[in-house]
Amino acid sequence: MNFHTLILGLAILCLLGWGLRQRRLIRRLLHPQNSQHAQDLRVLASARSERDSLLNAFPDAFLIADAQGVIQHCNQAAIELLGPARLTGRAVLETLRDARLAAPYLECRDTGKPAVAQILLPAEAAPTRGQDPSGGDSVWVVDAAPIAQAEGPPHIRILLRDLSAEHQLEQIRKDFVANASHELRTPITLVDGYLETFLEAPELLDDRPTALRFLGIMRKHTGRITRIIEDMLLISRIESRAAATLRMEDFLLVECVQDIIERLESLIQAQQASVRIDLHDPAVTLHGDRFYWTQILFNLIENALKQNPKPGLQVTIHSETTDTGLRVEIIDNGIGIPAADLPFIFKRFYRVEKHHSQNEIKGTGLGLSIVKRAVEAHGGAITCQSAPGLRTSFLISLPR
Ligand code: ADP
Repeated sequence: MNFHTLILGLAILCLLGWGLRQRRLIRRLLHPQNSQHAQDLRVLASARSERDSLLNAFPDAFLIADAQGVIQHCNQAAIELLGPARLTGRAVLETLRDARLAAPYLECRDTGKPAVAQILLPAEAAPTRGQDPSGGDSVWVVDAAPIAQAEGPPHIRILLRDLSAEHQLEQIRKDFVANASHELRTPITLVDGYLETFLEAPELLDDRPTALRFLGIMRKHTGRITRIIEDMLLISRIESRAAATLRMEDFLLVECVQDIIERLESLIQAQQASVRIDLHDPAVTLHGDRFYWTQILFNLIENALKQNPKPGLQVTIHSETTDTGLRVEIIDNGIGIPAADLPFIFKRFYRVEKHHSQNEIKGTGLGLSIVKRAVEAHGGAITCQSAPGLRTSFLISLPR
């Protein structure tokens, strides 16, 4: 039994108890000579408030309709979800609006048996969810069951639980698996193709230059497979590690940047690029997990270089303090990112396709999503602005 079911059970018990108490009290109130009138009124009010606070503590929308389909009780979550402020007295079908949401209620009403369904609604059909409509598809569990009455036909309780967040997470997970398999399949198929060529025409092995060229291509693709797997492992490591388990330490930003520049030195030389360190204070320290900060800054500086192989690229690592904290910015004057792509670049596997020529091996499309998650794990935020050909900047803001 989960927590929600427990609360729901309590709420129903409370309602039943309240119903009985109410009937007894009303009987006595109708015959005041037998009762202590004022005290009974107080007991009735307190029972009603007890019932309401229990139902209102329940996070799912909860309604009780009588045999005529008129709402007799509802909790605060139901009002926020289905509005208006007063739902009691309204027809349950009119309140639920969408026929798909109403289906379990109708089934329960017609068969007298409990009915549960999980329902996917498109954005335009979703209940309002108060002041915060999510904009996307929504998923609901609607659970209807009869509640026996001391007299007369049963009432029906209806519970609506919003499962949209869980659904979205599941969707992200499925997309990730699908994208990862797709990204891995391409290089594996290519390597497989070359190996097959060798097996079907072993005389190719005697043609040294061709054999070496094929081996070189295979090596590039296996390198890509390794990089995708490393990136995926890193993402899952960041996501499975709560911020509290990061290995926090103070370290000099300049040292971390210099390490990265050393690792990228051959690429910098080959592209005749210049990388400038422009810190507001050479002794500025970062408080965080150095392994992740190296990864963040490495990905950003490497991206600037990777996307701009033409000579003359300038990359600047800039820092400054503000009232709210520290800002670290990686700026380049390369081809930049078109405005239409900017909203998506931090998504997993997203690449600005036109940046890559056909024969070039693409990046994994995971670099920036790793950067974003790692920055957020440190309580920071990252944004990107780009004026293609002039200035592209990745700005990291860290709280004090
Ligand atoms: P990738 O592995 O393809 O580099 P990223 O997630 O690191 O993946 O980057 C996503 C896309 O953003 C890249 O494909 C590239 O087109 C674009 N991008 C990232 N940084 C820059 C930059 N400094 N200049 C131009 N484009 C960039």
